[in-house]
Amino acid sequence: MTGKERTRIVIVGAGFGGLFAARGLRHADARITLVDQHNYHLFQPLLYQVATAGLAPSDIAWPIRGILSRQKNVTVLLDRVSGVDTTSREVVTHERRIPYDYLVLATGARHAYFGHDDWEPHAPGLKSIDDATSIRRRVLMAFERAEMTDDEELKASLLNFVIVGAGPTGVELAGTIAELARRTLAADFRRIDSRSARIILVEAGPRVLPAFSEKLSGYARRALHKLGVEVLLGRAVTHCDADGVVVGDQHIPAATVLWAAGVAASPAGTWVGAETDRAGRVRVNVDLSVNKLPNVFIVGDAAAVKDKDGVPVPGIAPAAKQQGRYVASVIMARLENKAAPAPFRYRHAGNLATIGRKSAVIEFPFLRLSGFLAWWVWGIAHIYFLIGVRSPMTVAINWFWQYVTYGRGARLITGERK
Ligand SMILES: Cc1cc2nc3c(=O)[nH]c(=O)nc-3n(C[C@H](O)[C@H](O)[C@H](O)COP(=O)(O)OP(=O)(O)OC[C@H]3O[C@@H](n4cnc5c(N)ncnc54)[C@H](O)[C@@H]3O)c2cc1C
Repeated sequence: MTGKERTRIVIVGAGFGGLFAARGLRHADARITLVDQHNYHLFQPLLYQVATAGLAPSDIAWPIRGILSRQKNVTVLLDRVSGVDTTSREVVTHERRIPYDYLVLATGARHAYFGHDDWEPHAPGLKSIDDATSIRRRVLMAFERAEMTDDEELKASLLNFVIVGAGPTGVELAGTIAELARRTLAADFRRIDSRSARIILVEAGPRVLPAFSEKLSGYARRALHKLGVEVLLGRAVTHCDADGVVVGDQHIPAATVLWAAGVAASPAGTWVGAETDRAGRVRVNVDLSVNKLPNVFIVGDAAAVKDKDGVPVPGIAPAAKQQGRYVASVIMARLENKAAPAPFRYRHAGNLATIGRKSAVIEFPFLRLSGFLAWWVWGIAHIYFLIGVRSPMTVAINWFWQYVTYGRGARLITGERK
């Protein structure tokens, strides 16, 4: 074994950032260890479809080992990282210590409840497959329990669905739950009319989809209204418990409250003792390395990166992929004793969000679209995103079949009922 071959690269997290870093290092003469707490790579943009019984978990998550089986310089470890010893250069898990020469932390983000962590059991967020199947269970069980009860007050609370936060995830959840209630389930119950369900989207800011232009945001609001979603704008949730939420001075009884209002970075910054922003993202150098730790890089949702105009790079999949690829190029250059690549530059491809099955809003630098055509562009763009992770054709056929049939197979209540 040569000295070069013994170079150890550890990547923590097999999300978009970590996976694209590993892929970018496919020709590296090094030993790469990719550690993730799950054995799958998750396509988070479609999690809301699992949560609303449109797709099954296996449609949007794939074993990491399978994805990387042909890349012989990578070893995949299923383990949960609890820290990093930057002095001895080791990644620490409960089971082992993994030595590194280069470290890439790509551990993403999680939900944030703005100081109200006690709300989490009542208002779960959507981040993992477990979150999605647990939300699916809650939503479907609410209809089942409403069908069983004779208590009208309880029935009303069971048929109220509150979604907090009107970014893309909140809008997508609200639109899809409305369609579930108004269309998919409409013929299935005898004692309740599922179409009478109230779907309430609460947003503290002045408009839905704030990252989009005012025009598209207005379109999205009207499209939600058409689907029967009540949109409450400029109103923050001030309390949340098992009975529902308080919005301003109004109590809304609801058995199902879903949280799509905020994210905080994973603790990667704490592990390496780095300076972070308010959301816990590490303020990285222009080559995405950590200050004073030139061999440690942070990519994706865990990093606070600015674009060339000083605007923060958004926490979205294309940004994580670009950063993963970029860090791979920096490490490759060092391994091969070549000049360092130019500082990282983010290329924004655009913003996309769907509102139910037939409508979407799209904002590319050169094009703005809304409606059914936008929905098709959204579908094609998501399949394109997958290239490099999985066979896009297999996924396309699967998704569109589920869409046409209203995903009847995914409407299963699994796990412990609550
Ligand atoms: C519901 C939802 C919808 C979204 N929709 C869109 C969209 O439509 N378009 C878009 O571009 N972006 C969307 N995003 C954002 C996008 O998914 C993220 O920006 C992207 O996944 C970030 O990539 P990442 O690699 O930084 O982190 P992630 O993809 O989150 O990956 C982090 C990985 O690290 C692992 N990990 C975390 N902690 C540990 C630990 N301690 N030990 C071991 N492993 C660990 C996790 O298991 C995970 O595999 C969405 C996100 C969510 C949650």
